[in-house]
Amino acid sequence: MIRHNDIYIDGEWVEASGDEFRQVVNPATEEVFAEVRRGTAEDVDRAVLAATTAFEGWSQSSIEERARVLRAMADAMERDGDEVASCIVEEIGQPISWAQRASVATTVKDLRNFADALSDVVWEEKIGEATVRRIPAGVVGAIGAWNGPIRSVTLKVGAAIAAGCTVVLKPSEVAPLAPRLLARFAEHAGLPRGVLNIVSGSGSVVGEAMVAHPGVDMVSITGSVGAGMRVMEVAARSVKRVALELGGKSANIILAGADLAEAIESGIEDAFRNSGQACGALTRILVPRDQLQRAEELAAAKAQSFVIGDPTDANTQLGPLANNDQYESVRGHISRALDDGVKLVVGGLERPAGLDRGYYVRPTVFSGTNDDRIAREEVFGPVVVIIPFDSEEDAIRIANDTDFGLAGGVWAPDRDHARRVASRIRTGRVRINGTPIDMRAPHGGLKLSGVGREMGHHGIEDYLELQAQHG
Ligand code: NDP
Repeated sequence: MIRHNDIYIDGEWVEASGDEFRQVVNPATEEVFAEVRRGTAEDVDRAVLAATTAFEGWSQSSIEERARVLRAMADAMERDGDEVASCIVEEIGQPISWAQRASVATTVKDLRNFADALSDVVWEEKIGEATVRRIPAGVVGAIGAWNGPIRSVTLKVGAAIAAGCTVVLKPSEVAPLAPRLLARFAEHAGLPRGVLNIVSGSGSVVGEAMVAHPGVDMVSITGSVGAGMRVMEVAARSVKRVALELGGKSANIILAGADLAEAIESGIEDAFRNSGQACGALTRILVPRDQLQRAEELAAAKAQSFVIGDPTDANTQLGPLANNDQYESVRGHISRALDDGVKLVVGGLERPAGLDRGYYVRPTVFSGTNDDRIAREEVFGPVVVIIPFDSEEDAIRIANDTDFGLAGGVWAPDRDHARRVASRIRTGRVRINGTPIDMRAPHGGLKLSGVGREMGHHGIEDYLELQAQHG
Protein backbone atom coordinates (compact mmCIF):
# COMPACT_ATOMS: atom_id res chain seq x y z
CA MET A 1 0.00 0.00 0.00
CA ILE A 2 1.45 3.36 -1.05
CA ARG A 3 0.81 6.26 1.33
CA HIS A 4 1.56 9.88 0.47
CA ASN A 5 1.31 12.46 3.23
CA ASP A 6 2.99 15.26 1.41
CA ILE A 7 2.49 18.07 -1.03
CA TYR A 8 5.16 19.81 -3.11
CA ILE A 9 5.83 23.39 -2.12
CA ASP A 10 8.78 25.61 -2.96
CA GLY A 11 10.86 22.70 -4.23
CA GLU A 12 10.26 20.41 -1.25
CA TRP A 13 7.86 17.67 -0.25
CA VAL A 14 6.20 18.83 2.98
CA GLU A 15 3.38 17.37 5.05
CA ALA A 16 -0.13 18.36 3.93
CA SER A 17 -2.16 19.98 6.68
CA GLY A 18 -5.41 18.03 6.16
CA ASP A 19 -6.31 15.04 8.29
CA GLU A 20 -8.31 13.18 5.64
CA PHE A 21 -6.98 10.67 3.15
CA ARG A 22 -8.30 9.88 -0.31
CA GLN A 23 -7.98 6.28 -1.43
CA VAL A 24 -6.79 5.42 -4.92
CA VAL A 25 -8.38 2.35 -6.49
CA ASN A 26 -6.99 0.14 -9.24
CA PRO A 27 -10.00 -0.07 -11.62
CA ALA A 28 -8.97 -3.44 -13.04
CA THR A 29 -8.89 -5.15 -9.62
CA GLU A 30 -11.18 -2.78 -7.65
CA GLU A 31 -8.54 -2.83 -4.90
CA VAL A 32 -7.28 0.20 -3.00
CA PHE A 33 -3.53 0.41 -3.60
CA ALA A 34 -2.67 3.91 -2.42
CA GLU A 35 -3.89 6.76 -0.30
CA VAL A 36 -3.06 10.41 -0.48
CA ARG A 37 -3.50 12.97 2.26
CA ARG A 38 -5.90 15.72 1.25
CA GLY A 39 -4.62 19.26 1.25
CA THR A 40 -6.55 22.23 2.59
CA ALA A 41 -7.04 25.92 1.83
CA GLU A 42 -4.08 26.57 4.14
CA ASP A 43 -1.87 24.42 1.90
CA VAL A 44 -3.08 26.42 -1.08
CA ASP A 45 -1.98 29.60 0.73
CA ARG A 46 1.51 28.16 1.22
CA ALA A 47 1.72 27.07 -2.41
CA VAL A 48 0.51 30.42 -3.75
CA LEU A 49 3.06 32.24 -1.60
CA ALA A 50 5.86 30.07 -3.05
CA ALA A 51 4.58 30.60 -6.60
CA THR A 52 4.28 34.36 -6.08
CA THR A 53 7.83 34.59 -4.74
CA ALA A 54 9.20 32.49 -7.61
CA PHE A 55 7.33 34.58 -10.18
CA GLU A 56 9.70 37.53 -9.75
CA GLY A 57 12.61 35.53 -11.15
CA TRP A 58 10.92 33.11 -13.54
CA SER A 59 8.86 35.77 -15.31
CA GLN A 60 12.15 37.47 -16.23
CA SER A 61 13.91 34.29 -17.37
CA SER A 62 15.11 34.13 -20.96
CA ILE A 63 13.30 32.21 -23.66
CA GLU A 64 16.43 30.07 -24.07
CA GLU A 65 16.37 29.11 -20.39
CA ARG A 66 12.69 28.16 -20.53
CA ALA A 67 13.30 26.06 -23.64
CA ARG A 68 16.24 24.34 -21.96
CA VAL A 69 14.15 23.48 -18.88
CA LEU A 70 11.25 22.15 -20.96
CA ARG A 71 13.59 19.94 -23.00
CA ALA A 72 15.28 18.64 -19.85
CA MET A 73 11.86 17.86 -18.30
CA ALA A 74 10.97 15.96 -21.48
CA ASP A 75 14.23 13.99 -21.27
CA ALA A 76 13.58 13.12 -17.62
CA MET A 77 10.03 11.99 -18.36
CA GLU A 78 11.25 9.91 -21.28
CA ARG A 79 13.96 8.29 -19.11
CA ASP A 80 11.39 7.36 -16.44
CA GLY A 81 8.67 6.63 -18.99
CA ASP A 82 8.06 3.05 -17.83
CA GLU A 83 7.40 4.25 -14.28
CA VAL A 84 4.96 6.93 -15.48
CA ALA A 85 3.16 4.44 -17.72
CA SER A 86 2.86 1.84 -14.92
CA CYS A 87 1.47 4.48 -12.63
CA ILE A 88 -1.23 5.40 -15.16
CA VAL A 89 -2.09 1.75 -15.74
CA GLU A 90 -2.56 1.26 -12.01
CA GLU A 91 -4.55 4.41 -11.28
CA ILE A 92 -6.89 4.57 -14.28
CA GLY A 93 -6.57 1.18 -15.99
CA GLN A 94 -5.21 2.57 -19.24
CA PRO A 95 -3.79 -0.32 -21.33
CA ILE A 96 -0.01 -0.34 -21.00
CA SER A 97 0.72 -0.03 -24.73
CA TRP A 98 -1.58 2.99 -24.93
CA ALA A 99 -0.12 4.50 -21.75
CA GLN A 100 3.39 4.23 -23.17
CA ARG A 101 2.45 5.68 -26.54
CA ALA A 102 -0.44 8.08 -26.03
CA SER A 103 0.26 9.17 -22.47
CA VAL A 104 4.02 9.15 -21.99
CA ALA A 105 5.52 9.50 -25.49
CA THR A 106 2.94 12.10 -26.51
CA THR A 107 3.47 14.13 -23.34
CA VAL A 108 7.24 14.05 -23.82
CA LYS A 109 6.59 15.36 -27.34
CA ASP A 110 4.25 18.06 -25.96
CA LEU A 111 7.05 19.38 -23.74
CA ARG A 112 9.48 19.45 -26.67
CA ASN A 113 6.82 21.10 -28.82
CA PHE A 114 6.44 23.85 -26.21
CA ALA A 115 10.22 24.38 -26.24
CA ASP A 116 10.19 24.68 -30.04
CA ALA A 117 7.04 26.82 -30.06
CA LEU A 118 8.69 29.47 -27.91
CA SER A 119 10.26 30.80 -31.09
CA ASP A 120 6.84 31.00 -32.81
CA VAL A 121 5.39 33.33 -30.18
CA VAL A 122 5.45 37.00 -31.20
CA TRP A 123 6.95 38.34 -27.97
CA GLU A 124 7.14 41.91 -29.15
CA GLU A 125 5.65 43.92 -32.01
CA LYS A 126 5.55 47.56 -33.03
CA ILE A 127 2.26 49.37 -33.57
CA GLY A 128 3.12 52.89 -34.66
CA GLU A 129 5.37 54.23 -31.92
CA ALA A 130 4.10 51.74 -29.35
CA THR A 131 5.78 48.46 -28.48
CA VAL A 132 3.36 45.66 -27.67
CA ARG A 133 4.93 43.00 -25.47
CA ARG A 134 3.63 39.63 -24.37
CA ILE A 135 4.08 39.17 -20.64
CA PRO A 136 3.33 36.17 -18.39
CA ALA A 137 -0.19 36.08 -16.94
CA GLY A 138 1.17 35.48 -13.41
CA VAL A 139 0.49 32.72 -10.90
CA VAL A 140 -1.56 29.94 -12.52
CA GLY A 141 -3.88 27.52 -10.75
CA ALA A 142 -3.89 24.32 -12.84
CA ILE A 143 -6.57 21.69 -12.23
CA GLY A 144 -6.19 18.28 -13.88
CA ALA A 145 -8.58 15.53 -14.97
CA TRP A 146 -8.23 11.81 -14.34
CA ASN A 147 -8.65 10.59 -17.91
CA GLY A 148 -5.15 11.80 -18.81
CA PRO A 149 -3.33 11.91 -15.47
CA ILE A 150 0.01 13.06 -16.88
CA ARG A 151 -1.01 14.70 -20.15
CA SER A 152 -3.84 16.87 -18.87
CA VAL A 153 -1.56 18.44 -16.28
CA THR A 154 1.60 18.68 -18.39
CA LEU A 155 -0.24 20.57 -21.14
CA LYS A 156 -0.98 23.22 -18.53
CA VAL A 157 2.28 23.16 -16.58
CA GLY A 158 4.45 23.05 -19.73
CA ALA A 159 2.66 25.95 -21.41
CA ALA A 160 2.61 28.03 -18.23
CA ILE A 161 6.33 27.50 -17.59
CA ALA A 162 7.04 28.38 -21.24
CA ALA A 163 5.10 31.61 -20.80
CA GLY A 164 7.11 32.56 -17.69
CA CYS A 165 4.26 31.85 -15.26
CA THR A 166 4.50 29.94 -12.00
CA VAL A 167 2.05 27.19 -11.11
CA VAL A 168 0.03 25.63 -8.31
CA LEU A 169 -1.18 22.26 -9.61
CA LYS A 170 -4.09 20.26 -8.23
CA PRO A 171 -4.31 16.81 -9.84
CA SER A 172 -7.61 14.89 -9.94
CA GLU A 173 -8.17 12.88 -6.76
CA VAL A 174 -8.98 9.85 -8.89
CA ALA A 175 -5.47 9.85 -10.40
CA PRO A 176 -3.08 11.81 -8.20
CA LEU A 177 0.04 9.65 -8.53
CA ALA A 178 1.45 10.19 -12.02
CA PRO A 179 1.22 13.99 -11.70
CA ARG A 180 3.47 13.87 -8.63
CA LEU A 181 6.30 12.61 -10.84
CA LEU A 182 6.31 15.99 -12.58
CA ALA A 183 8.07 17.44 -9.52
CA ARG A 184 10.96 15.02 -10.02
CA PHE A 185 11.23 15.91 -13.72
CA ALA A 186 11.15 19.62 -12.88
CA GLU A 187 13.92 19.21 -10.31
CA HIS A 188 15.99 17.18 -12.73
CA ALA A 189 15.59 19.99 -15.27
CA GLY A 190 16.74 22.63 -12.80
CA LEU A 191 13.42 24.46 -12.69
CA PRO A 192 13.82 27.02 -9.91
CA ARG A 193 12.03 26.15 -6.67
CA GLY A 194 8.54 27.54 -6.32
CA VAL A 195 7.85 27.65 -10.06
CA LEU A 196 5.90 24.37 -9.79
CA ASN A 197 3.93 23.48 -6.66
CA ILE A 198 1.58 20.50 -6.28
CA VAL A 199 -1.29 20.36 -3.78
CA SER A 200 -3.41 17.19 -3.65
CA GLY A 201 -6.99 17.39 -2.52
CA SER A 202 -10.56 17.67 -3.64
CA GLY A 203 -11.95 20.07 -6.21
CA SER A 204 -14.44 21.45 -3.75
CA VAL A 205 -11.76 22.36 -1.15
CA VAL A 206 -8.33 22.73 -2.79
CA GLY A 207 -9.69 23.50 -6.26
CA GLU A 208 -12.09 26.19 -5.08
CA ALA A 209 -9.49 27.68 -2.75
CA MET A 210 -7.16 28.08 -5.71
CA VAL A 211 -9.84 29.63 -7.90
CA ALA A 212 -10.89 32.06 -5.19
CA HIS A 213 -7.34 32.93 -4.09
CA PRO A 214 -6.44 36.61 -4.61
CA GLY A 215 -2.84 35.60 -5.35
CA VAL A 216 -3.82 33.40 -8.30
CA ASP A 217 -4.03 35.32 -11.59
CA MET A 218 -5.38 32.63 -13.88
CA VAL A 219 -7.02 29.21 -13.60
CA SER A 220 -6.89 26.43 -16.17
CA ILE A 221 -9.05 23.35 -15.68
CA THR A 222 -9.66 20.18 -17.65
CA GLY A 223 -12.80 18.44 -16.55
CA SER A 224 -16.55 18.29 -16.77
CA VAL A 225 -18.82 21.11 -17.89
CA GLY A 226 -20.21 21.39 -14.36
CA ALA A 227 -16.78 21.91 -12.82
CA GLY A 228 -15.85 24.37 -15.58
CA MET A 229 -18.97 26.43 -14.93
CA ARG A 230 -18.29 26.47 -11.22
CA VAL A 231 -14.69 27.59 -11.80
CA MET A 232 -15.85 30.39 -14.09
CA GLU A 233 -18.42 31.48 -11.50
CA VAL A 234 -15.95 31.56 -8.60
CA ALA A 235 -13.21 33.14 -10.76
CA ALA A 236 -15.61 35.93 -11.76
CA ARG A 237 -15.57 37.30 -8.20
CA SER A 238 -11.92 38.26 -8.62
CA VAL A 239 -12.15 38.79 -12.41
CA LYS A 240 -9.69 35.99 -13.02
CA ARG A 241 -8.73 34.77 -16.40
CA VAL A 242 -9.90 31.17 -17.04
CA ALA A 243 -9.03 28.45 -19.53
CA LEU A 244 -11.57 25.63 -19.67
CA GLU A 245 -11.02 22.31 -21.45
CA LEU A 246 -14.35 20.55 -21.03
CA GLY A 247 -16.41 17.87 -22.70
CA GLY A 248 -17.59 17.02 -26.19
CA LYS A 249 -20.08 15.09 -28.32
CA SER A 250 -18.27 15.17 -31.61
CA ALA A 251 -19.64 14.11 -34.99
CA ASN A 252 -17.84 12.06 -37.62
CA ILE A 253 -19.55 12.92 -40.93
CA ILE A 254 -19.12 10.24 -43.58
CA LEU A 255 -20.30 11.75 -46.87
CA ALA A 256 -21.59 9.75 -49.84
CA GLY A 257 -18.74 8.31 -51.89
CA ALA A 258 -16.30 8.12 -48.95
CA ASP A 259 -14.82 4.74 -48.04
CA LEU A 260 -17.41 3.71 -45.46
CA ALA A 261 -15.41 0.78 -44.08
CA GLU A 262 -12.26 2.83 -43.54
CA ALA A 263 -14.20 5.76 -42.08
CA ILE A 264 -16.10 3.56 -39.60
CA GLU A 265 -12.97 1.68 -38.58
CA SER A 266 -10.94 4.84 -38.04
CA GLY A 267 -13.84 6.69 -36.37
CA ILE A 268 -14.49 3.92 -33.85
CA GLU A 269 -10.81 3.65 -33.04
CA ASP A 270 -10.90 7.37 -32.28
CA ALA A 271 -14.08 7.08 -30.23
CA PHE A 272 -12.99 4.09 -28.13
CA ARG A 273 -9.42 5.19 -27.34
CA ASN A 274 -8.80 5.26 -23.58
CA SER A 275 -12.04 3.24 -23.27
CA GLY A 276 -13.92 6.19 -24.71
CA GLN A 277 -12.77 8.48 -21.90
CA ALA A 278 -11.50 11.11 -24.31
CA CYS A 279 -12.97 14.58 -24.59
CA GLY A 280 -12.56 14.80 -28.38
CA ALA A 281 -13.93 11.30 -29.08
CA LEU A 282 -15.98 11.08 -32.30
CA THR A 283 -19.03 9.58 -30.62
CA ARG A 284 -21.70 10.44 -33.21
CA ILE A 285 -21.25 8.65 -36.55
CA LEU A 286 -23.23 10.39 -39.30
CA VAL A 287 -23.89 8.30 -42.43
CA PRO A 288 -26.03 8.64 -45.57
CA ARG A 289 -29.43 7.08 -44.84
CA ASP A 290 -29.09 4.51 -47.64
CA GLN A 291 -25.87 3.23 -46.04
CA LEU A 292 -27.22 2.93 -42.50
CA GLN A 293 -27.52 -0.84 -42.45
CA ARG A 294 -24.02 -1.35 -43.85
CA ALA A 295 -22.65 1.18 -41.34
CA GLU A 296 -24.27 -0.72 -38.47
CA GLU A 297 -22.70 -3.99 -39.65
CA LEU A 298 -19.25 -2.43 -40.01
CA ALA A 299 -19.47 -0.70 -36.62
CA ALA A 300 -20.59 -3.91 -34.91
CA ALA A 301 -17.70 -5.85 -36.40
CA LYS A 302 -15.20 -3.19 -35.37
CA ALA A 303 -16.59 -2.86 -31.83
CA GLN A 304 -16.41 -6.62 -31.34
CA SER A 305 -12.82 -6.77 -32.55
CA PHE A 306 -11.30 -4.99 -29.52
CA VAL A 307 -9.20 -7.03 -27.11
CA ILE A 308 -10.65 -6.13 -23.69
CA GLY A 309 -9.05 -7.02 -20.40
CA ASP A 310 -6.03 -6.72 -18.14
CA PRO A 311 -4.46 -3.30 -18.80
CA THR A 312 -1.00 -4.63 -17.86
CA ASP A 313 -1.13 -7.01 -20.85
CA ALA A 314 0.60 -5.50 -23.89
CA ASN A 315 -2.06 -6.97 -26.20
CA THR A 316 -4.99 -5.30 -24.44
CA GLN A 317 -6.69 -2.55 -26.43
CA LEU A 318 -9.52 -1.64 -24.06
CA GLY A 319 -9.09 -1.52 -20.29
CA PRO A 320 -11.70 -0.87 -17.62
CA LEU A 321 -13.28 2.51 -17.03
CA ALA A 322 -11.19 4.59 -14.67
CA ASN A 323 -13.32 4.41 -11.55
CA ASN A 324 -16.57 3.16 -10.10
CA ASP A 325 -18.40 6.49 -10.54
CA GLN A 326 -17.54 6.50 -14.22
CA TYR A 327 -18.58 2.84 -14.53
CA GLU A 328 -21.98 3.56 -12.98
CA SER A 329 -22.36 6.70 -15.06
CA VAL A 330 -21.65 4.95 -18.39
CA ARG A 331 -23.96 2.07 -17.51
CA GLY A 332 -26.61 4.65 -16.63
CA HIS A 333 -26.32 6.21 -20.10
CA ILE A 334 -26.61 2.79 -21.77
CA SER A 335 -29.57 1.85 -19.60
CA ARG A 336 -31.43 5.10 -20.38
CA ALA A 337 -30.82 4.64 -24.12
CA LEU A 338 -32.32 1.16 -23.89
CA ASP A 339 -35.30 2.54 -21.92
CA ASP A 340 -35.71 5.21 -24.62
CA GLY A 341 -36.01 2.44 -27.21
CA VAL A 342 -32.85 3.36 -29.13
CA LYS A 343 -31.74 0.43 -31.32
CA LEU A 344 -28.82 -1.43 -29.74
CA VAL A 345 -26.50 -2.67 -32.50
CA VAL A 346 -23.91 -4.33 -30.28
CA GLY A 347 -22.71 -4.23 -26.64
CA GLY A 348 -25.03 -3.19 -23.84
CA LEU A 349 -25.19 -3.71 -20.12
CA GLU A 350 -23.88 -7.26 -19.89
CA ARG A 351 -20.28 -7.46 -18.65
CA PRO A 352 -17.61 -8.49 -21.19
CA ALA A 353 -17.15 -12.28 -21.14
CA GLY A 354 -14.66 -13.60 -18.60
CA LEU A 355 -14.24 -10.30 -16.75
CA ASP A 356 -16.01 -10.64 -13.41
CA ARG A 357 -13.99 -7.99 -11.64
CA GLY A 358 -13.01 -4.47 -12.65
CA TYR A 359 -14.99 -1.59 -14.15
CA TYR A 360 -15.32 -3.11 -17.62
CA VAL A 361 -18.03 -2.13 -20.09
CA ARG A 362 -18.74 -3.74 -23.46
CA PRO A 363 -17.93 -1.59 -26.51
CA THR A 364 -21.42 -0.41 -27.41
CA VAL A 365 -22.98 0.85 -30.63
CA PHE A 366 -26.45 2.37 -30.85
CA SER A 367 -28.34 3.42 -33.97
CA GLY A 368 -30.74 6.30 -33.48
CA THR A 369 -31.45 9.96 -34.08
CA ASN A 370 -29.73 13.14 -32.98
CA ASP A 371 -32.65 13.83 -30.62
CA ASP A 372 -31.97 10.73 -28.51
CA ARG A 373 -30.39 11.43 -25.13
CA ILE A 374 -27.53 9.08 -26.02
CA ALA A 375 -26.75 11.40 -28.96
CA ARG A 376 -26.88 14.57 -26.88
CA GLU A 377 -25.18 13.76 -23.57
CA GLU A 378 -21.47 13.11 -23.21
CA VAL A 379 -21.05 9.47 -22.11
CA PHE A 380 -17.26 9.34 -21.64
CA GLY A 381 -17.13 5.60 -22.22
CA PRO A 382 -16.91 3.19 -25.17
CA VAL A 383 -20.32 4.09 -26.60
CA VAL A 384 -21.16 5.53 -30.04
CA VAL A 385 -24.40 6.27 -31.84
CA ILE A 386 -24.93 6.02 -35.60
CA ILE A 387 -27.23 8.70 -37.03
CA PRO A 388 -28.48 8.77 -40.65
CA PHE A 389 -28.66 11.98 -42.70
CA ASP A 390 -30.56 12.84 -45.89
CA SER A 391 -28.22 15.34 -47.53
CA GLU A 392 -24.93 17.13 -46.95
CA GLU A 393 -26.81 20.11 -45.52
CA ASP A 394 -28.64 17.76 -43.18
CA ALA A 395 -25.32 16.25 -42.04
CA ILE A 396 -23.86 19.68 -41.26
CA ARG A 397 -27.02 20.66 -39.41
CA ILE A 398 -26.93 17.48 -37.28
CA ALA A 399 -23.20 17.84 -36.55
CA ASN A 400 -23.77 21.38 -35.26
CA ASP A 401 -26.96 20.52 -33.40
CA THR A 402 -25.23 19.92 -30.07
CA ASP A 403 -24.34 21.88 -26.93
CA PHE A 404 -20.67 21.04 -27.48
CA GLY A 405 -18.03 22.22 -29.96
CA LEU A 406 -14.79 20.36 -29.39
CA ALA A 407 -13.95 18.10 -32.34
CA GLY A 408 -15.27 16.51 -35.50
CA GLY A 409 -14.43 14.46 -38.55
CA VAL A 410 -15.35 14.71 -42.23
CA TRP A 411 -14.84 11.96 -44.80
CA ALA A 412 -15.30 12.67 -48.51
CA PRO A 413 -13.70 11.42 -51.73
CA ASP A 414 -12.49 14.94 -52.50
CA ARG A 415 -10.32 16.55 -49.80
CA ASP A 416 -11.21 20.13 -50.81
CA HIS A 417 -14.88 19.26 -50.60
CA ALA A 418 -14.28 17.79 -47.12
CA ARG A 419 -12.46 20.98 -46.10
CA ARG A 420 -15.38 23.14 -47.23
CA VAL A 421 -17.74 21.03 -45.11
CA ALA A 422 -15.27 21.12 -42.19
CA SER A 423 -15.20 24.92 -42.25
CA ARG A 424 -18.94 24.89 -41.51
CA ILE A 425 -18.58 22.69 -38.43
CA ARG A 426 -18.61 24.74 -35.22
CA THR A 427 -15.81 22.99 -33.35
CA GLY A 428 -12.20 23.70 -32.40
CA ARG A 429 -10.85 20.79 -34.43
CA VAL A 430 -11.89 18.74 -37.46
CA ARG A 431 -10.06 15.68 -38.76
CA ILE A 432 -10.34 15.22 -42.51
CA ASN A 433 -10.37 11.68 -43.92
CA GLY A 434 -8.86 10.32 -40.71
CA THR A 435 -5.68 12.43 -40.86
CA PRO A 436 -3.77 12.04 -37.57
CA ILE A 437 -3.77 15.02 -35.23
CA ASP A 438 -0.67 17.22 -35.29
CA MET A 439 0.01 17.90 -31.61
CA ARG A 440 1.51 21.33 -32.36
CA ALA A 441 -1.88 22.61 -33.51
CA PRO A 442 -4.31 24.09 -30.97
CA HIS A 443 -6.82 21.96 -29.07
CA GLY A 444 -9.90 23.40 -27.41
CA GLY A 445 -13.54 24.03 -27.85
CA LEU A 446 -16.46 26.27 -28.65
CA LYS A 447 -19.79 26.40 -26.79
CA LEU A 448 -19.92 24.16 -23.68
CA SER A 449 -16.60 22.55 -24.66
CA GLY A 450 -14.73 25.44 -23.15
CA VAL A 451 -12.64 28.56 -23.46
CA GLY A 452 -9.05 28.79 -24.67
CA ARG A 453 -6.64 26.48 -26.43
CA GLU A 454 -3.92 24.03 -25.40
CA MET A 455 -0.84 22.70 -27.24
CA GLY A 456 1.82 24.40 -29.35
CA HIS A 457 2.37 28.15 -29.44
CA HIS A 458 -1.36 28.87 -29.13
CA GLY A 459 -1.28 26.94 -25.85
CA ILE A 460 1.56 29.15 -24.57
CA GLU A 461 -0.26 32.30 -25.67
CA ASP A 462 -3.19 31.42 -23.40
CA TYR A 463 -0.84 32.13 -20.47
CA LEU A 464 0.33 35.50 -21.79
CA GLU A 465 -1.08 39.00 -21.38
CA LEU A 466 -0.43 41.99 -23.62
CA GLN A 467 1.38 45.07 -22.41
CA ALA A 468 1.53 48.13 -24.67
CA GLN A 469 4.53 50.34 -23.95
CA HIS A 470 4.22 53.87 -25.30
CA GLY A 471 7.39 55.86 -25.60
P1 NDP B 1 -14.42 16.74 -12.99
O1 NDP B 1 -15.07 17.93 -13.51
O2 NDP B 1 -15.11 15.95 -11.98
O3 NDP B 1 -13.00 17.08 -12.37
C1 NDP B 1 -12.00 17.75 -13.08
C2 NDP B 1 -11.08 18.41 -12.09
O4 NDP B 1 -11.77 19.52 -11.54
C3 NDP B 1 -10.71 17.52 -10.91
O5 NDP B 1 -9.38 17.80 -10.51
C4 NDP B 1 -11.70 17.96 -9.85
O6 NDP B 1 -11.31 17.69 -8.52
C5 NDP B 1 -11.77 19.45 -10.13
N1 NDP B 1 -12.95 20.11 -9.64
C6 NDP B 1 -14.19 19.61 -9.48
N2 NDP B 1 -15.02 20.56 -8.98
C7 NDP B 1 -14.27 21.68 -8.79
C8 NDP B 1 -14.54 22.98 -8.29
N3 NDP B 1 -15.75 23.33 -7.86
N4 NDP B 1 -13.54 23.88 -8.26
C9 NDP B 1 -12.31 23.57 -8.69
N5 NDP B 1 -11.99 22.33 -9.16
C10 NDP B 1 -12.95 21.40 -9.23
O7 NDP B 1 -14.06 15.95 -14.31
P2 NDP B 1 -13.44 14.52 -14.42
O8 NDP B 1 -12.16 14.46 -13.70
O9 NDP B 1 -14.53 13.60 -14.04
O10 NDP B 1 -13.12 14.42 -16.01
C11 NDP B 1 -14.07 13.99 -16.92
C12 NDP B 1 -14.66 15.14 -17.67
O11 NDP B 1 -13.63 16.01 -18.15
C13 NDP B 1 -15.43 14.73 -18.88
O12 NDP B 1 -16.65 15.40 -18.94
C14 NDP B 1 -14.55 15.15 -20.07
O13 NDP B 1 -15.24 15.47 -21.22
C15 NDP B 1 -13.80 16.30 -19.54
N6 NDP B 1 -12.48 16.38 -20.16
C16 NDP B 1 -12.22 17.35 -21.11
C17 NDP B 1 -11.02 17.42 -21.75
C18 NDP B 1 -10.72 18.50 -22.73
O14 NDP B 1 -9.56 18.67 -23.09
N7 NDP B 1 -11.67 19.26 -23.20
C19 NDP B 1 -9.97 16.45 -21.48
C20 NDP B 1 -10.31 15.50 -20.48
C21 NDP B 1 -11.52 15.48 -19.85
P3 NDP B 1 -11.53 16.24 -7.83
O15 NDP B 1 -10.15 15.78 -7.58
O16 NDP B 1 -12.30 16.49 -6.57
O17 NDP B 1 -12.28 15.39 -8.78
